[in-house]
Amino acid sequence: MPEIDLHSHSRYSDGSLAPADLVALAARAGVKALALTDHDAVAGLAEARAAAAEHGLCLINGVEISAAWNGHNIHVVGLQVDPENPILRDGLARQAGARALRARHMADKLEALGMTGVYDGVLALAQSPDAISRTHFSQWLFANGHVSSIQQAFDRYLGPRKPASVPMPWASLEDTVSWIRAAGGVAVLAHPGRYPLTRTKMRGLIAAFRQAGGEAIEVATATEKPDMVQYLGRLSVELGLLASQGSDYHGTPAPWIALGNFPRLPAGCTPVWTAWGWPVDGLPACMATDIATGSVPVVAEALS
Ligand code: AMP
Ligand code: MN
Ligand code: MN
Ligand code: MN
Repeated sequence: MPEIDLHSHSRYSDGSLAPADLVALAARAGVKALALTDHDAVAGLAEARAAAAEHGLCLINGVEISAAWNGHNIHVVGLQVDPENPILRDGLARQAGARALRARHMADKLEALGMTGVYDGVLALAQSPDAISRTHFSQWLFANGHVSSIQQAFDRYLGPRKPASVPMPWASLEDTVSWIRAAGGVAVLAHPGRYPLTRTKMRGLIAAFRQAGGEAIEVATATEKPDMVQYLGRLSVELGLLASQGSDYHGTPAPWIALGNFPRLPAGCTPVWTAWGWPVDGLPACMATDIATGSVPVVAEALS
């Protein structure tokens, strides 16, 4: 089911494409249902939705929320959220405010190391001050010759405990799940294999997530190794969680990732889209009805 891509980023977080261009590219890649899941932001969804109607693609309202759990920075994807929900909006506004402050502090730290024009340079790469991500810093460091790769920017400056690192007051895992649920969405633990956790600790994280009301884990993502995809698939079955999939497309910050390109969900997994009424093999009613907003038609004929 690569036609269903439930994880992607636009310029409203750290992706390189405007939502309309992202949706157009997804349609060209054969994606039929796309979730836009910007980091701590729902600002790109309206633009994506308008473009989706033009391209006959089903847009799923999403968000990827940064959370803190046991000292780790965890990502929680919300799918089918109502972007107007005040609880979700309040939470995201607080995260955005923290992002804007962090960007100033990170720029100050890099300037103290002798670099110049950091804040203005980074801001020029982002949609707005409160959308500035470490990805933008890594791009600026690379473009200005301070590092020889994006990875080196994280290894030398931006990663945990590195010179430009600023600890973030991200919301708790429990709070992020509760905002998503308040907004009518399904909470998905994003890329569980990407955190620096042993398998025992990963199980602990998934248990805490489930306890908080999380319903799904991301099983198949573009950068996950095949054995991890299989392992996460087995865990989802064992723990009774739904399974999600997506590319985590960012555009130029991660040019090796393509929309709609990720491993298949292992056999036996229950896909997360069953939570909003689609059949196990995907893609049905969505074509006739836009679930997130109620009943906006999404040009069925273009998809058949
Ligand atoms: P932020 O939410 O601003 O802390 O930025 C986190 C984003 O940075 C992630 O969503 C990734 O897109 C990117 N990122 C984190 N670590 C790395 C890394 N080691 N290499 C490249 N990109 C990274
Ligand atoms: Mn990102
Ligand atoms: Mn993530
Ligand atoms: Mn992501």
